[in-house]
Amino acid sequence: MTLLPFGFYDLLDQLAEPGCAICALARRDADKLMDTILYEQVVDPPTQEHFRASRGLCAEHSARFSEIRNALGVCVLADQVLDEVLTILDKTPARGGQSLGRLLTGAGDSPLARKLAPERPCIVCEAQARGETHYAATLARHLNDARLDEAFRLSDGVCLPHFVTALEQTTDSAAAQRLAGIQRNIWRRLKAELDEFMRKSDAVNARGETMDIESDSWRRAMTLLGGERGVFGRNRGAGT
Ligand SMILES: [Zn+2]
Ligand SMILES: [Zn+2]
Repeated sequence: MTLLPFGFYDLLDQLAEPGCAICALARRDADKLMDTILYEQVVDPPTQEHFRASRGLCAEHSARFSEIRNALGVCVLADQVLDEVLTILDKTPARGGQSLGRLLTGAGDSPLARKLAPERPCIVCEAQARGETHYAATLARHLNDARLDEAFRLSDGVCLPHFVTALEQTTDSAAAQRLAGIQRNIWRRLKAELDEFMRKSDAVNARGETMDIESDSWRRAMTLLGGERGVFGRNRGAGT
């Protein structure tokens, strides 16, 4: 009997809900982590060191961190980051020397700008990326479990970025084929819904037909192509 990885049942349950299951679990785990940080780890030295090195959180997680309503916790960590930034400001020249190359382009060198750049990613983004890879690997490698296979077939599929991650996590060609085959069927159904939406929206063809399941297909399609808001930001572009 295969040993099931941590998160297998979470994935199984989440596949029954609308949208990409990996996006939803990633968001859930990120929220839990931010709660844990705020209520248990604000004075924890490794957490404080990470916040200093990452210069705080990314824009998305900064906004959600403030929504947790633990003002004192947020204050302690923001104070650490500001202390780090001010220490760098005190010690580092804002502008470096000119070189011939820079004179020609007009661009200046700023040691301060370089020093202020984050040395590590946002602590929540870092944990979230690990979680996404883990759930994608669980899906990719355990589709031979009849329960997961059925749940995935009946689901909305995973979003395009997580489909790519899952394919990268497959360990053999049979698993990759199975994963791709199911996702292809799901996307074919979604495309048929988009086509039906367009057909019914066409004034020439319209015969008072009411919209059915395809009524929000355009919205679901955008989310399933781009991933859920808050999971994929503009920092997840090509080559990153
Ligand atoms: Zn996703
Ligand atoms: Zn982040």
